[in-house]
Amino acid sequence: MRGKSLSPDTITFLGTAGARFMVISQILASGGLWLNLSGTEILVDPGPGCIVQSTKRKLKADKLSAIILSHRHLDHSADVNIMVEAMTQGGFKRHGWLFAPADALETEPVIFSYLKTYLDGVEVLQEGKSYSVGNISFATPIRHIHPVETYGMIFKTTNHTFSYISDSRYFDGLCTSYRGELLIINVVRHEGDPPFDHLSVPDAEHIITELKPKVAILTHFGMTMWRAKPWEVAQRLSQETGVRVLAARDGMSFDLSDLGDT
Ligand SMILES: [Zn+2]
Repeated sequence: MRGKSLSPDTITFLGTAGARFMVISQILASGGLWLNLSGTEILVDPGPGCIVQSTKRKLKADKLSAIILSHRHLDHSADVNIMVEAMTQGGFKRHGWLFAPADALETEPVIFSYLKTYLDGVEVLQEGKSYSVGNISFATPIRHIHPVETYGMIFKTTNHTFSYISDSRYFDGLCTSYRGELLIINVVRHEGDPPFDHLSVPDAEHIITELKPKVAILTHFGMTMWRAKPWEVAQRLSQETGVRVLAARDGMSFDLSDLGDT
């Protein structure tokens, strides 16, 4: 019971689809991650359907303190405008922050300018910087290799540290930048050849082996990954890495207290 009812740290997967074919077919839902960390609620990567998935799960957008975009691609940002509107109760309750890389905000902004006035502010994500929101902080340690400016995040709550590796081509910096008790990793592809701008299962296996988190959660599945049955892939990776590896499911909530005390 201790602490559990006071301030749970939970991560809800609004959807687990990644990349264009899974997202346009909605075989799996898309919509991002809803974090409730030490009482601070944050939405990460509100892809298409976020407003539907979050309201369906009775998550209250007006409780959000911030929305974070790892990058501007549609499957990570499509619902940012409606989620800003929901966070601010249609603009009548001005509050909350938007965090995004500069190229999501500049020449062709993903957010309408009239909605920006509903926010407390917009902060630009940059490599090697840390930010705070309510009771938590997060860092964007390294710029990813992806067609647009992209960052992953390391979140620190009162009790836990976890990492989110968003879209990227594999590079060694991923294995040194994202230490934490829990690793959430976007694994779009099943096969690693030829190399591409997204991570594959062999990439994930290597990264998990290097970072050795207590738990790793695979998500953001593309079509090849879905056909390979993510839950079977996760089971095999658990055996091969010695780390408990899970495949996210649409609507799954992970409680960080399941990681044990630090
Ligand atoms: Zn992307």
